[in-house]
Amino acid sequence: MVGKIDHIGIAVKDMAAAKNFYEQVLGLKVTSEEVVEEQKVKVAFIPTGDSEVELLESTTEDGPIARYIEKNGEGIQHIAFRVENLEEKLAELKAAGVRLIDEKPRRGAGGAKIAFLHPKSTFGTLVELCERD
Ligand code: ZN
Repeated sequence: MVGKIDHIGIAVKDMAAAKNFYEQVLGLKVTSEEVVEEQKVKVAFIPTGDSEVELLESTTEDGPIARYIEKNGEGIQHIAFRVENLEEKLAELKAAGVRLIDEKPRRGAGGAKIAFLHPKSTFGTLVELCERD
């Protein structure tokens, strides 16, 4: 079993404009921002309730988020569930025949260990599993 929804990843073209909407219009607060070089993405985390919104802006024209927006437009790009032991969970899912994008955990924003499951195995939604200390 996976845990709570850790965050929802939203692909945006203009991080400043998106942050402005979440902060000025919805009244939430960006609590952390960072660039994840290997994903060519700038992220901003906005806690709300028990979960967070993760805004994602591409840092290059050919990054995964840029390609996502080109194909689908802006919007929800992935949903992340919290897990206790990511390596164990990945092994379990692989054994169950789930198609994995990441066979091994990699480093995500905020020092989390993350891995993605293929939308072909998750009824069309890119699913991230996320382990935090
Ligand atoms: Zn994420």
